[in-house]
Amino acid sequence: MAVPFRRTSKTRKRLRRTHYKLRVPGMTECPNCGEMKLAHRVCPSCGTYKGKEVISK
Ligand SMILES: [Zn+2]
Repeated sequence: MAVPFRRTSKTRKRLRRTHYKLRVPGMTECPNCGEMKLAHRVCPSCGTYKGKEVISK
């Protein structure tokens, strides 16, 4: 089994982790109002799904 030749420095480790981002899984931006909403569900702020209004006010 291959083993690392050198220990990864603090800087190297931190530089690599700058690509990691905090992201909520299953959340997408609503194409209608731009709010964050749960994927595959009706947007709670504008009440649309796939470009159609589903919830009437
Ligand atoms: Zn919306």
